Amino acid sequence: MRVAVVGAGSIGLAVAWRAAEAGAKVVVHDPEPGSGASRVAAGMIAPVTEAHYGEEALTPFIAASADAWPAFARELEAASGLGVGFRDVPTVVACVEDGDRAELQRQVDLYRRTARHVETLTARAARKAEPLLSHRVRAAVLATEDRAVDPRAVHTALLAAVEDAGVELRSDRVDDLDAIEADQVVLAAGCGSANFSPKWSIPVRPVRGAVLRLRAVGDQPVPRTTVRGYVKGHSVYIVTRDSGEVVVGATSDERGFDRRTGTAGAVHDLLRWSVELVPEIAEYHLEEVSVGFRPGTPDNLPLIGRLDERTVAATGHYRNGIALIPATATAVAALIAGEEPDSLAAFDPLRFNRSEARTRTLTAAPNTTTRPVPEPTTEEADS
Ligand SMILES: Cc1cc2nc3c(=O)[nH]c(=O)nc-3n(C[C@H](O)[C@H](O)[C@H](O)COP(=O)(O)OP(=O)(O)OC[C@H]3O[C@@H](n4cnc5c(N)ncnc54)[C@H](O)[C@@H]3O)c2cc1C
Repeated sequence: MRVAVVGAGSIGLAVAWRAAEAGAKVVVHDPEPGSGASRVAAGMIAPVTEAHYGEEALTPFIAASADAWPAFARELEAASGLGVGFRDVPTVVACVEDGDRAELQRQVDLYRRTARHVETLTARAARKAEPLLSHRVRAAVLATEDRAVDPRAVHTALLAAVEDAGVELRSDRVDDLDAIEADQVVLAAGCGSANFSPKWSIPVRPVRGAVLRLRAVGDQPVPRTTVRGYVKGHSVYIVTRDSGEVVVGATSDERGFDRRTGTAGAVHDLLRWSVELVPEIAEYHLEEVSVGFRPGTPDNLPLIGRLDERTVAATGHYRNGIALIPATATAVAALIAGEEPDSLAAFDPLRFNRSEARTRTLTAAPNTTTRPVPEPTTEEADS
């Protein structure tokens, strides 16, 4: 079988790798592999601390993907000969002011709905879990099953693994899926996935986010856990790599594809809030400010499934695309093989086409008193 994958971000490459392993002849098309969100992301694999109200349908899929990550990381490292920076460390979510306690409590209620292990901590227990936490921390929560990985290392390893598996990488931009010669086509172009064909509406939009990359030098200590928190009503996270890199994120705005790195004020805010949680951050070297575009959808859920008998969507992963790599790759390989994985029921890529059609019918119907159901609004993202 000939499979074409449009997009060489981590989702497209992981799908290509799985399809090639299953015996397909795979070609990946991308004019600039790795230019998307996959090399900007912080790398949290966070089925608990990325839980959001209204996104419950994602819970089983992200949980399955998080559980698959340790084996996926080992397999990818073996196939590529490269490390992917997988860290089996918990996440501490902390607050420094009484005013942020209510938000933390609201989050705990949500975290508990994931049915994964969540522990509330006193300030003293929190500093035992993460010794670099500020003495101003009032309370915290420990999510022992959230983990992290280095997304740049993952992308580099995927490039090596697909090459080793015989996948052909073509540096061309695809504008017309129908022009591709293949038995199956996978659309995995992240924020570039909208407007490929008038046949379908693929409502992926760029949700811009900036992250900072800092580095501890010499024997400077770094957080041993992933630290998240609420500071004066703002959320911030700190993700540490074994290399000494520390990622602080993230801003979130909807201003299209504005590739400028953001204002000095935004960088200042991220630094100020992260230093409130972990004062040591003020001592690190600031190496990079980067922006990326999360592929957002109207209901914040991904678009994974069949568009037609030849075309499969694997896009719209919004703020969890790194966490969702293993589950997406496995499910899309199954789709290509003609199966219909139950795990994808909530992610039908044509669900908005249907609601548009329904809205059109309702609006056109004479004497109707029924109003079209508005699409849900997007919650503010924080990763
Ligand atoms: C600041 C920030 C922090 C994040 N943190 C996390 C995190 O901690 N954990 C997590 O799980 N997720 C995180 N994410 C989300 C995650 O990065 C994305 O969901 C994920 O990378 C999407 O991967 P992708 O392969 O679908 O898209 P991308 O990585 O964007 O790749 C898309 C590729 O498609 C190519 N392309 C586009 N159009 C075309 C075309 N017409 N023809 C051919 N190729 C095309 C592009 O060149 C690009 O290489 C974060 C994102 C941002 C921006």
